[in-house]
Amino acid sequence: MLRTHTCGELKIADAGKKVTLSGWVQRSRDLGGMTFIDLRDRYGITQLVFNMEVNPTLCQEARQLGREYVVSIEGHVTERSNKNLKMPTGEIEITVEKFTVLNVSKTPPFTIEDNTDGGDELRMKYRYLDLRRNINKTNLELRHKMSVETRNYLSDQQFLEVETPYLIKSTPEGARDFVVPSRMNPGQFYALPQSPQTFKQLLMVAGYDRYFQIVRCFRDEDLRADRQPEFTQIDCEMSFVTRDDILDTFEGLAKHLFKKIKNIDIHDFPRMSYDEAMTRYGSDKPDIRFGMEFVELNALVKGKDFKVFDDAELVVGICVKDCATYTRKQLDELTDFVRKPQVGANGMVYVKYNEDGSFTSSVSKFYTDHDFVAIAHAMGAHENDLMLLLAGNAEKTRKALCELRLEMGNRLGLRLNDDYKPLWVIDFPLLEWDEDSQRFYAKHHPFTAPKPEDIPLLDTNPIAIKANAYDLVINGVEIGGGSIRIHNKELQKKMFEILGFTDEDAQNQFGFLMNAFEYGAPPHGGIAFGFDRFCAVFGGSDSIRDYIAFPKNNSGRDVMIDSPSEISQQQLGELAIRVVSS
Ligand code: ASP
Repeated sequence: MLRTHTCGELKIADAGKKVTLSGWVQRSRDLGGMTFIDLRDRYGITQLVFNMEVNPTLCQEARQLGREYVVSIEGHVTERSNKNLKMPTGEIEITVEKFTVLNVSKTPPFTIEDNTDGGDELRMKYRYLDLRRNINKTNLELRHKMSVETRNYLSDQQFLEVETPYLIKSTPEGARDFVVPSRMNPGQFYALPQSPQTFKQLLMVAGYDRYFQIVRCFRDEDLRADRQPEFTQIDCEMSFVTRDDILDTFEGLAKHLFKKIKNIDIHDFPRMSYDEAMTRYGSDKPDIRFGMEFVELNALVKGKDFKVFDDAELVVGICVKDCATYTRKQLDELTDFVRKPQVGANGMVYVKYNEDGSFTSSVSKFYTDHDFVAIAHAMGAHENDLMLLLAGNAEKTRKALCELRLEMGNRLGLRLNDDYKPLWVIDFPLLEWDEDSQRFYAKHHPFTAPKPEDIPLLDTNPIAIKANAYDLVINGVEIGGGSIRIHNKELQKKMFEILGFTDEDAQNQFGFLMNAFEYGAPPHGGIAFGFDRFCAVFGGSDSIRDYIAFPKNNSGRDVMIDSPSEISQQQLGELAIRVVSS
């Protein structure tokens, strides 16, 4: 045995025990006649002590140990004279009698400390060293617990974990596929799944009425911050259920995870329609940890000769409590913020409701105090509040005000990491119209069922149809989404038709599913959670990368193994692929 204990478990009660520990040299300090070494493993850090007077040779040898050397030591647990109560093992140290160097180490390219000096790329290149740091260890432990508890909950609810294939068929819907050439079928390609959607539906046809899988999915999407080309879903499907059965079941999963992992009881999962979410928050994933809800002001502000408002499709504002004292500089900063291309507003109007009941505004030329009182009333503003108004095209203005609202939430410290406010957003539009390609796209995916009462609109007014679809949103982050599915061949065919598929295309790409619907497909529906994101939300972080052991960088590269990379002519030949340089 290279160890009798880990570096995280010895306590004062173990004093006197003879122990063997193995681990990495975190740090060493020579203090006159003594040498102290912090020995680290996955479980913690234990202090080792070598005494020059007691054993000069051993102490000299210990002084040669570099950072990250791997050593195994034998010694006795002793009570420390200088205790460190911040460390679980801080009351003891090991008086080392013997040690073996199991392996040497080069000096690591960055310090393996909580506050490291290594930049992002460097740490990605040496990810195995980065993973030795506490923060990453804690994150991966959280991920592990989340997956164990997910399995426990779903298994207790009779869900069966079934694996579905990774080598599947490319379809042009959704994001771009990653494709894999088939050597045995020259010129033909598999695709890696963007999700197991069709397979889980086939499992329902097969009668496995509760399925789940914690599964890797692949999407070749354009790079955006914090997107990973491969990511993990908790993918689920159920038969013989209504939407509310599904929401209840997965609310249960979320509650279970909050309780088991964070010891938080969450009772309330409000349900809000997509339309309401857009009107009140300008977003289909509203952060409801704080108020500042949108107030639409067209009726109050138009017709007063202020051209910007008169020309706008929508004038909408938020009321920021207790901020009427904002300075010129602070207001200018906010105007600059809304003008950023990512936010997209042309400008911002402010109205300060001053402490003394007067108003100061960037549009006081056009509005009387009487008008401002009416606006303040509509916005629920009182003395000392600040009203911020945007105007323009409705969709764009809502989006920009949503960003401004979140920015104000950040500035005022209203978006607390450990305050969890989930909600379901329901009744999404079924379709989106794309101007460029002049066709409809499915907002969720083509297998999503319309709300039954909207089915007649398929022939008359498809854009008005609401889908039987839902998203779980926590603190402004979309954690999961799903829908009741179409389980009838004719309706599925119709859906493909609306999406601009020819009969032949639909048959080629999804014939297997539509054929299966002819053999007794039960009504079914499901959901998938972004597991990496779920972990990040639980960890109080914005970055999914921190919860993935070996993530790709923002250009989709693994800089550690240097991938993607070219392959040899011989490999290309075997795959019948010719590279044509542009
Ligand atoms: N397969 C869907 C997705 O990946 C989720 C679902 O509808 O269950 O978004």
